[in-house]
Amino acid sequence: MIIVMEPDATQSQVDEVIEKVREAELKDHALVGTDLTVVAVIGDERKLNMGMIEQLAGVDRVVPILAPYKMSARESKPDRTTVRLDDDCVIGGNAVVMIAGPCSVESEEQIMDAARKCKAAGAHALRGGAFKPRTNPYSFQGLGEQGLKLLAQAREETGLAIVTEVLTPAEVELVSEYADCLQIGTRNAQNFKLLEAAGKQPKPVLYKRGMSMTLDEFLQACEYVLAAGNPNVILCERGIRTFEDHTRNTLSLSVVPELHERSHLPVVIDPSQGTGYARLVPAMCRAAVACGADGLIVEVHPDPEHAMTDGAQSITPDALKETMQALSRIAAAIDRAM
Ligand code: PEP
Ligand code: MN
Repeated sequence: MIIVMEPDATQSQVDEVIEKVREAELKDHALVGTDLTVVAVIGDERKLNMGMIEQLAGVDRVVPILAPYKMSARESKPDRTTVRLDDDCVIGGNAVVMIAGPCSVESEEQIMDAARKCKAAGAHALRGGAFKPRTNPYSFQGLGEQGLKLLAQAREETGLAIVTEVLTPAEVELVSEYADCLQIGTRNAQNFKLLEAAGKQPKPVLYKRGMSMTLDEFLQACEYVLAAGNPNVILCERGIRTFEDHTRNTLSLSVVPELHERSHLPVVIDPSQGTGYARLVPAMCRAAVACGADGLIVEVHPDPEHAMTDGAQSITPDALKETMQALSRIAAAIDRAM
């Protein structure tokens, strides 16, 4: 951190700044120039309250050097993180991963049919919500534990790893018993107690960006999972709220290279919530792989017209198969596998 003093700052104001730096057990190095003085802070500047320093008399501005997130930051870990969902499915390696399946688990017949067809289309993991975060309390809320059991049955038959959402800290243990990966949704992205609870259980976490969260806030909140002891976090972009109304959300694909620059964690794109329309999903899948996404999470339903949730944005298994073929060509073009 560099603390830049105002041109007319007095020596006693500089001394006060230095005192605060030392109180935080950091080293200081004052550089007195012809026009102004700057104080370089040596050590982990995150121990210092930037806002408090900025308020001190004689301080012009504070320039941080380190990211406010520690464990998720690129500088904290030179190698990229790979997250293993099961024996066959690793996210963050050379191979791009397809997580496919319905928005919600609706019935045994529906999830088994979806799982078989997603597997046949080439998917590597199965998604499906048993606990659904619905905007309206009267809408279908998911099958709960029964849905988790059905997902386990689908895994048993197809061998696909299960990705499913957890809504509350109290349900983390239960979902963790059944799932191979816990999804934390956009509406819970700043539910810090939930993030902490997900950090204390052993399964990987697919963590979605809040729909109005900056990348900085996203990576800071992600620290709750990492700091609680779980290093297996997959970052997921699912679209944000903007003025745009031709899609349900605005799918910000430039976060892929940006997150890869800021963090060592793998990045997955959800073009289903990201667009809201099935007809836009294949193109956004292709774009996501082209810009370096480590995986996709896509809503696929055997009968989208009769889906209980998110039918309009769910593609068919046939569309998934066709998309997968195009994706493997795009992956090859950027020296990746799929
Ligand atoms: C979902 O994946 O079905 C879902 C509810 O996602 P999001 O949290 O991104 O809205
Ligand atoms: Mn959905």
